Amino acid sequence: MLIVDRSFGDIRKHKNTLASLLGTGPDHIIMLQQVHGDAIYEVTKPEPKAVKGYDAMITEKKDLYLAIKIADCQAVTVRDTSRSIVANIHNGWRCSAKNIVGKTLKALIHSYGCIPENLQIFISPSIGPCCAEFSQPRKELPTALHTYILENNHVDFWLATKDQCVATGVPEDNISLAEECTVCNKNRYFSYRGDHKKTGRNGVIIWN
Ligand SMILES: [Zn+2]
Repeated sequence: MLIVDRSFGDIRKHKNTLASLLGTGPDHIIMLQQVHGDAIYEVTKPEPKAVKGYDAMITEKKDLYLAIKIADCQAVTVRDTSRSIVANIHNGWRCSAKNIVGKTLKALIHSYGCIPENLQIFISPSIGPCCAEFSQPRKELPTALHTYILENNHVDFWLATKDQCVATGVPEDNISLAEECTVCNKNRYFSYRGDHKKTGRNGVIIWN
């Protein structure tokens, strides 16, 4: 797995450099036109352009690099330690509300036959409970997420994602959380909120 931070520049603009660093071709770095939904794409071949309409991807193939672009949203990577299969998920608050993480894990378990105990999960640097402030979180978020609303209308999406993982049977010890807020660390990461909406994209990449 590789975390591409601000020092590298906007991941969307430097696909060729990234490909040579990874020792592959640019079409082997798979990006999605992330739409804040919950659809999962199965990657089986190189893609010259960002794939439309998806926020999660899974592959069993080698030499395909799943790259999620973020600037405050979470990237959630999943690796099966017993076989060749990985997933990468774009998990912004709208995706959190749709439980895309739970849906992707369920797909891995039920459609691909992964065993929850073998899944290792990483939750990337992303907006933390310190900075994720909503004007009316009880109206904007589904009831399943109300338990993560803190004082002053802040929301703990880090814990929400952890709980969504655990709910699928993945042991808590298999989940690592970066616990680094992109808004508080905007000198290191592009941050949509920290940079007042005009910003680049960090990347989180996983491969078999
Ligand atoms: Zn923060």
